[in-house]
Amino acid sequence: MAAPADLAWPFFDDGHRALVPQFERWIADELPALLHGAEDSLDAVHACVKRMVQSLGRAGLLRVCVPAACGGVREQLDVRSLALGRELLAQASGLADFALAMQGLGSAPVTLFGNAAQQQRLLPGVAEGRIITAFALSEPDAGSDVAAMSSTATRLPGGGWRLDGVKTWISNADLADHYVVFARSGEAAGAKGISAFMVDARTPGLDASERIPVIAPHPLGTLRLTDCRVPDDALLGEPGQGFRIAMGTLDSFRTTVGAAALGFARRAMDEATQRAHARRMFGRTLADFQLTQKKVGEMAVAIDASALMVYRAAWTKDVQRVRVTREASMAKLFATEAAQQVIDGAVQLFGGLGVVQGMTVERLYREIRALRIYEGASEVLELIIGARTLEAAAAAGRAAPGAAA
Ligand SMILES: Cc1cc2nc3c(=O)[nH]c(=O)nc-3n(C[C@H](O)[C@H](O)[C@H](O)COP(=O)(O)OP(=O)(O)OC[C@H]3O[C@@H](n4cnc5c(N)ncnc54)[C@H](O)[C@@H]3O)c2cc1C
Repeated sequence: MAAPADLAWPFFDDGHRALVPQFERWIADELPALLHGAEDSLDAVHACVKRMVQSLGRAGLLRVCVPAACGGVREQLDVRSLALGRELLAQASGLADFALAMQGLGSAPVTLFGNAAQQQRLLPGVAEGRIITAFALSEPDAGSDVAAMSSTATRLPGGGWRLDGVKTWISNADLADHYVVFARSGEAAGAKGISAFMVDARTPGLDASERIPVIAPHPLGTLRLTDCRVPDDALLGEPGQGFRIAMGTLDSFRTTVGAAALGFARRAMDEATQRAHARRMFGRTLADFQLTQKKVGEMAVAIDASALMVYRAAWTKDVQRVRVTREASMAKLFATEAAQQVIDGAVQLFGGLGVVQGMTVERLYREIRALRIYEGASEVLELIIGARTLEAAAAAGRAAPGAAA
């Protein structure tokens, strides 16, 4: 299931290799019972994610989401640990991957930009699975164009802030105990006038009851903020730093979305190859046909290339400690698009069985789709990668076309 050969690659150390059997044990021992009835209703999906977060916390696996000072596995948030965890969980269940991913995404702004007191308030509970988190950035008219957001944060004369507006497509809405909310605080126009706040789900004026059903089980909803008051120490970083906080968080988490896509693709490959060997037709097996071998060959290349891009981006962030906007965008773009192709190929190899409800490849086909949209749609990522590549070329002095070397 995992990719033991890949773990020998120089991107990983012994700490990463030790994590793998821990995740595998949880998947074998705990996950089957947790998934029972999960898809029956929206309430069941919510309840399942809550149970999963608690169980992952008890098993110590959510420690990959926080730094050591707050109970984490490494001194700093380690993208390779998160990526490995997501890859392994995604091979088994999209919901399990989601439970881990949101504990990371919802708390990362605090890990990366919060002060020590803010970190101690939230992160130990995140690692233990006691506090479920969410990341509230998108709005009905500000998804890809985040800087167009219109929710407001108004400083109150007696101290604290008042939040008003609507955030939508929020994972873990109506389930989270804690939200990081981004709102326009007005220091400047556009991206430079946004701030980020830590908001307890019980704060009066916060309504998360409106749910959004989607094609694969996923707790998702809309957040309405009406005269929602938070204290001064809810502010993360400085006023006006919210866009930087959001993008800094996504620089780490886009790589892990690629890792989840890689996990889905690996599972689809396992399913497809087993089916190809088992299915008899025209006096042979499906695997005996050259067209099948070509398709499987393409899938294998896509999976290995995805793995290399995901691990490269994670390693660069963890070890070189530099900005990885370009590498993370490449990893997410390539791995999610490749996984969609791999999974589609697996469904095709299954024939009619591939579209039957309850088949693993049918579930994967639904689960992969949203990954090409959230945390930067593929088109947005292409623009980021293109812009960064052109900037780098200009900085390297290669802007003059045709100049002799
Ligand atoms: C399952 C799911 C979970 C999510 N979870 C969260 C969450 O936890 N927190 C949160 O804040 N948000 C979350 N989102 C929101 C997600 O980040 C947005 O859906 C995404 O950013 C796209 O925004 P939009 O839906 O408004 O689409 P739009 O911004 O309207 O974009 C629509 C499409 O336009 C295309 N496009 C965009 N920009 C360009 C361009 N410059 N040129 C050409 N084409 C372009 C893309 O194909 C894009 O898909 C989630 C979404 C989904 C589906």
